[in-house]
Amino acid sequence: MTQTSSLTTYYNYIDGQEVASSSNETFKVENPANKSEILGEFQKSTEAELNQAVEAAKAALPSWKKTAAPARGEYIQKAARYIEEHAEEYKLQLVREVGKSYKDADAEVIRTIRAMRYLSGESERLTGETIPSWDSQVRGYTKREPIGVVGVITPWNVPLAIAAWKIATAFACGCTVVFKPSSQTPLISQWLVEAYKAVDLPAGVLNFVTGSGSVIGNGIAKHKDIKAVSFTGSNPVGNTINKLIAERGARFQAEMGGKNPFVVLEDADLELATSNVIDGGFGESGQRCTATSRVILMKDIADEFIEKLIPKVEKLKVGNPMNNDTQMGPVVDEGSMKSILEYIETGKKEGAELLAGGKQLTDDECSNGYFVAPTVFGGVTPDMTIAQEEIFGPVISIMVADSYEQALDWANDIDYGLSSTIYTNNMDKAMHFMDNIEAGFTHVNMMTMHSEPQFPFGGIKGTGLGGFREQGSVGIDFYTEWKTGYIKTHDNN
Ligand code: NAD
Repeated sequence: MTQTSSLTTYYNYIDGQEVASSSNETFKVENPANKSEILGEFQKSTEAELNQAVEAAKAALPSWKKTAAPARGEYIQKAARYIEEHAEEYKLQLVREVGKSYKDADAEVIRTIRAMRYLSGESERLTGETIPSWDSQVRGYTKREPIGVVGVITPWNVPLAIAAWKIATAFACGCTVVFKPSSQTPLISQWLVEAYKAVDLPAGVLNFVTGSGSVIGNGIAKHKDIKAVSFTGSNPVGNTINKLIAERGARFQAEMGGKNPFVVLEDADLELATSNVIDGGFGESGQRCTATSRVILMKDIADEFIEKLIPKVEKLKVGNPMNNDTQMGPVVDEGSMKSILEYIETGKKEGAELLAGGKQLTDDECSNGYFVAPTVFGGVTPDMTIAQEEIFGPVISIMVADSYEQALDWANDIDYGLSSTIYTNNMDKAMHFMDNIEAGFTHVNMMTMHSEPQFPFGGIKGTGLGGFREQGSVGIDFYTEWKTGYIKTHDNN
């Protein structure tokens, strides 16, 4: 890091050293709530730095693999402790760089620490089996071995926690890492690297390279020495990487978009359900893969639900996320804002009824950032664009169904399959929904974004590629390969 009076320059971190890009070019990152505030400039790296990072990760692999697994876990635990000790700074950085409210930033830091703690324990749970042989003199067993150098490509919306859980799982399994963060949030991503530097992680085990998706991300996908790539981001990018990786036979894990249904039955607690729609739809300005984006109501309670919901939406305090009373901050950048506003126009054109919001906010605290009013559409039908495509902003579509069966059909009538929820006290309906909803995870009377690191996380259908889940006891599958051993002895004569 170098600092002039006005601007700090940040570098790649490769083989334990700060490395500048050979392009001599940088890119700047701004605060989305106040675009005049530049948070720093970062290296626009080239393939040369990527190759250097892969070489470093390859060179570090043998001794990292040989390090006792629980000792690898200890680095993760210590890094988690470092983040906990500096939690306030990490939260404020998330507020500044992503535009999260303080409450949402707090939740991400807690989630990061919990995930790292849980996953550090995987280093002590890398168990295999002993299996009886047809030959009584043969003892057979299986063990997990690290897959090798892993590429980690992350999005901007949960930039700390997602990188933290991918990297922690890789380390627990004995893999070394080349980490490429989103160019919208490289600083908080670098702070994760700082936590590992602070606990003296050996050089080369974690290598951090900033730069464009088309150069560094694409280069990771194509690099022959990267044995597996864990990606979280959008569908178009995930699908592109998938093709490149399939060509060279490497392993790929992709967690992509969501369009999560929130079904409300006649007997639901409407106070709870409306409050949870607010948190699920407008928390983090709706920029979560697990955000509540489709609210499917039974027709008998639809009017009452909407009457309760709209005043709550209109009361939301939108503004500078640095202020304590702000409930919703900006969206991440100008491109996102424009895309969300276009979806709002499309919703209106296709005949949905605008019940709240529907515009950019430019007054007072919102005058120098990228703010979109919390928006609710009623009268949405399943074929509308706003009911089908991921908007990734503070926009909720309300659909009114004639029956539970129709609600379930609509909930499933989508290319995505990440999260879902149903609000009811009818156990039969709740269980039927849980069994029949097409989603990687589901809830009853809980928000769509609830997840915990000891449970598997990930989506089906268009959301997930590769068939591997993150976190939970199965998270290690992606980062390991099985080895089977047969040992012949002559000890029974
Ligand atoms: P994105 O796809 O634009 O970028 C993700 C990462 O891929 C970034 O690091 C980017 O630089 C890199 N990238 C871009 N082009 C690339 C290329 N050609 N080759 C390789 N890498 C490339 O996504 P985003 O806008 O950062 O994140 C938002 C998306 O992420 C949303 O669709 C959201 O639903 C999804 N998301 C999914 C989950 C999940 O667990 N399912 C979690 C968070 C976010």
